[in-house]
Amino acid sequence: MTVLSAAVADARSRLSAAGLPDAAIEARLLIGGLLGLSSTEVFVGGERVLTEEEIARIENAVGRRLKREPVHRILGSREFHGMELLISRETLEPRPDTEILVDSMLAHVGQIVAGKGSARILDLGTGTGAIILALLKESPKAQGIGSDISPDALQTATQNAARLGLAERFQAIRSHWFDAISGCFDIIVSNPPYIRSDVIPALEPEVRDFDPLAALDGGPDGLEAYRAIAAGAGDFLEKDGVIGVEIGFDQKETVTAIFRAAGFALVEAVRDYGDNDRVLVFTVNHP
Ligand code: GLN
Repeated sequence: MTVLSAAVADARSRLSAAGLPDAAIEARLLIGGLLGLSSTEVFVGGERVLTEEEIARIENAVGRRLKREPVHRILGSREFHGMELLISRETLEPRPDTEILVDSMLAHVGQIVAGKGSARILDLGTGTGAIILALLKESPKAQGIGSDISPDALQTATQNAARLGLAERFQAIRSHWFDAISGCFDIIVSNPPYIRSDVIPALEPEVRDFDPLAALDGGPDGLEAYRAIAAGAGDFLEKDGVIGVEIGFDQKETVTAIFRAAGFALVEAVRDYGDNDRVLVFTVNHP
């Protein structure tokens, strides 16, 4: 007979022995997630006797974590900006830093809605739909498109929109950047791949081996996606439109230069919780 507390203790010691720094938290999160229990319920419900089936599922999940698969990817979902989002094979796991892009853009969406009663938003490389769905959740008058090159990601984003009751205001479009996009937008947002190709082998295995490469690899200098977005945005942005992008910690100057050369002006630069440059906001530069 195995009780919950023993399973958690066993998972914790195995994760810890493998050198994982947050073994105690992860053991509770993982097992709680598998059994549908909060961390508190795991904590106080230690006497619960586990079924054979539950033990097998826990064993499988701990084995996956020992191979460095992230906890939320094992569980299949994660919280982002107050929403529970499904994650799938070809979606980047949403990160807390990306909430900063959402919060920075909310003010701009609000201003546009105040001015014209609605706002049209385009999220390039939407993945789980995290950014656009958070913006739509907070702005009932906005509607938007999430584009992605991956059908798997578009399916996940569509499912997430439906689960959140946002399906009517959300459309998923398969597109490589602007290739299949038409129309004009008030807001363009993106958390594009921005890691230099040569840095990828040195990333943590949780990222390198489990986040999709297409969502990480920004090419030889990490800036290819920004060039594509800056080059196309002029044709798809309203004249008083706003573009917000997430960037790597050392890309503020280079990304600003790319957008400036394409006719945009930097209006806001925001740092993340680690005090790194993380978000840049641009508007059309009217000479
Ligand atoms: N922030 C992610 C990381 O550090 C990278 C995501 C991206 O390239 N857009 O792993």
